[in-house]
Amino acid sequence: MNKPVDNALLTPTVPYWINNRKVEATSTRSGEVTNPATGAVTKRVAFANTKDIDTAVQAAKAAFPAWRGTPPLRRARVMQKFLALMQANINELAVLASEEHGKTVPDAVGSVTRGIEVIEFACGIPHLQKGEHSENVGTDVDCHTLRQPLGVCAGITPFNFPAMVPLWMFPVAIATGNTFVLKPSEKVPSCSMRMAELFKEAGLPDGVFNVVHGDKEAVDSLLNHPDVKAISFVGSTPIAQYIYETCAKNGKRVQALGGAKNHAVVLPDADLDFAADALVGAGYGSAGERCMAISVVVAVGGVGDALVAKVKEKALKIEVGPGNKAGVEMGPLVTKQHRDKVKSYIDAGEKEGATLVMDGRGKVVPGYENGFYLGTTLFDNVKTDMSIYKDEIFGPVLAVLRVDTLEDAIKLVNSCPYANGTAIFTASGGAARRFETEIEVGMVGVNVPIPVPMAFFSFGGWKASLFGDYSVHGMDGVRFYTRPKVVTTRWTTTEVGPRLNMPTLG
Ligand code: NAD
Repeated sequence: MNKPVDNALLTPTVPYWINNRKVEATSTRSGEVTNPATGAVTKRVAFANTKDIDTAVQAAKAAFPAWRGTPPLRRARVMQKFLALMQANINELAVLASEEHGKTVPDAVGSVTRGIEVIEFACGIPHLQKGEHSENVGTDVDCHTLRQPLGVCAGITPFNFPAMVPLWMFPVAIATGNTFVLKPSEKVPSCSMRMAELFKEAGLPDGVFNVVHGDKEAVDSLLNHPDVKAISFVGSTPIAQYIYETCAKNGKRVQALGGAKNHAVVLPDADLDFAADALVGAGYGSAGERCMAISVVVAVGGVGDALVAKVKEKALKIEVGPGNKAGVEMGPLVTKQHRDKVKSYIDAGEKEGATLVMDGRGKVVPGYENGFYLGTTLFDNVKTDMSIYKDEIFGPVLAVLRVDTLEDAIKLVNSCPYANGTAIFTASGGAARRFETEIEVGMVGVNVPIPVPMAFFSFGGWKASLFGDYSVHGMDGVRFYTRPKVVTTRWTTTEVGPRLNMPTLG
């Protein structure tokens, strides 16, 4: 009699990428990668142990001296080739992201494009990494600064942007002369592997960019590794805080971007159709699994009834289905566990007394009954003590709160511990300017619902949305991945003799 087929043996395992080639794990632990549209397990992914992490870090450490000694212009030329390869393969990367995350392919193309823009920024590194020079800071004394790379840097990234968030980090780290170990989310490991292959094809030397996979054990091994000099993290707030504290304890440079609860404030003078379109796109796009998604709408001064009616009308038309099907606008959530967690928030919101205007819990997509779908959900009359307001839900759930004045709205937004993004919809320049000045949030949109800065600006929130002093990419990225050194030089023929007092202008 034939033995039953062990499906686990038929499922390919995603390996690591170390020294420009695929490397099998020594760890015996692994996890499942699912296709959220169908619910099927499509791959397994190795979960690195301390030994596997050390192998990757040692490769990066060995590659560092030659790479930091490579002139910035040559490093930029590798980035330019990588840029061209990424642009040529954007659809393949978007399909990979969609298969493992669930988002629609056109949405994935958009996010990979935003990531590629960071490579474009990094191509300018010979200019961006320049120091300053002052002649004659004292008599015959000159002063100049250098921005030097740190060594081995590591990135730990979330599931929701399989290509874009890693791209916020490693192009700038590598262009500035560092070497890098990336640990992408174990739920979406394949985009990082493909990007590593393309980087090799662009001419990146062995060991400069490495990819490992895993969970807490892999992350802790990076945080505690003495040869890792800096950690960039993007993910949920509790883990971001843990990463920040552990790195601080270990003396590592760290930037740890956390979760969000982004409010959109709608004033009575706003164009309500325009605002409703923006809210529907920003609330339900990518099934709400964006760190800059709008999850709270603050309806000011009686605009609530008309706004809720318009959002409902537009949201009901959203086509939900598999991310690779033409015409689908919203895909499934990333995993069954996450879908069920979002569902439980809808249960809680109903129990807590919010008005459930649109309920996505019953959503079934014919032919995809095992997929992790949820329909669009809208709550009105939400109060600040309800869990659907306080917690980051990270799903297609919009909560509407009503307040009387702009001042009340600003107070509400400023009392939220999360402070990633926010937006105001208004026709008043004065109101917008007041909002921009007084709001305590890192990224602000004026009639722009998802104000994600371009690559040549820096991306990062405030308060519980960012632990650390530097945002990602833009000049903050260059500063994060380099250390300033100030050199003071005297070339003189004059004999001055010993001076024991604090030197001043001579
Ligand atoms: P997550 O915090 O669960 O995981 C992020 C990374 O941390 C993953 O690589 C994961 O393997 C690792 N990790 C998970 N648990 C860990 C633990 N206990 N110890 C050490 N490492 C651990 O986040 P997620 O669910 O993958 O992503 C969604 C979250 O990311 C949301 O909160 C979202 O707001 C946030 N996010 C924030 C930004 C931003 O720019 N601020 C951008 C994207 C996503």
